[in-house]
Amino acid sequence: MARTPLMAGNWKSNVNHQEAVVLVQKLAWTLQDKKHDPAKAEVAVIPPFTDIRSVQTLVDGDRLTIRYGAQDVSEHDGGAYTGEISAAMLAKLGCAYVVVGHSERREYHGETDAVVNTKAAKTLAAGMTPIVCVGEGLEVRQAGEHVPFTLAQIDGSLAGFTPEQVAGLVVAYEPVWAIGTGEVATPEDAQEVCQAIRGRVAETFSPEAADSLRILYGGSVKAANIAAIMAKSDVDGALVGGASLQAEEFAAIARFY
Ligand code: PEP
Repeated sequence: MARTPLMAGNWKSNVNHQEAVVLVQKLAWTLQDKKHDPAKAEVAVIPPFTDIRSVQTLVDGDRLTIRYGAQDVSEHDGGAYTGEISAAMLAKLGCAYVVVGHSERREYHGETDAVVNTKAAKTLAAGMTPIVCVGEGLEVRQAGEHVPFTLAQIDGSLAGFTPEQVAGLVVAYEPVWAIGTGEVATPEDAQEVCQAIRGRVAETFSPEAADSLRILYGGSVKAANIAAIMAKSDVDGALVGGASLQAEEFAAIARFY
């Protein structure tokens, strides 16, 4: 089946409110200027929570061109959880996506596969699509254990989901050693793990789920390297950090085709 590529820009905690407002507008103009075709690649931005409402307003009526999501979500539905943002709150803001289990959350906030699994389930239950992040650190890669390590994260993060749910998910394979470091995994490295993930999903869930699931690569993606990465058959897009903060660069990534 033909999977529509997804280019998702994770702004992390890098923009203030004014910068976010300028960035999303500049992205919209640049995509228009480059005659971007949303049927060839879906574009999403993942701003900080505090900018989601503004992004919503600015892309309103233009959702086919730029969709948006959140960088995290609460494990809880609501109630006495100071500081937490629930899935229902994000759905109400029109979020299409929620990034769950980003390596920075796993590393700095101790998020386990069980936590990631709960967050992905809450996201799905609220009608949004989780972007489930997995990927190995440098030591695991050097030990040659990157495939089993990543597949174990897939098993834990997707546990208990139905094949139909998995079919609609997005998984992002992000080798931690390639995030924000300028070190890019080769297209062959990306394909090796993305193919293994799709194989595992076929075995655990169904061949149809594996065929529909979109698997992104993330780690120092730029306009200069996206075409070679996208040429790999199991890579369906990219989760982009640093390069998504420059509208021209991110639009060029989206316009890889
Ligand atoms: C990321 O944080 O998900 C990421 C891939 O970052 P960068 O593109 O900056 O490596």
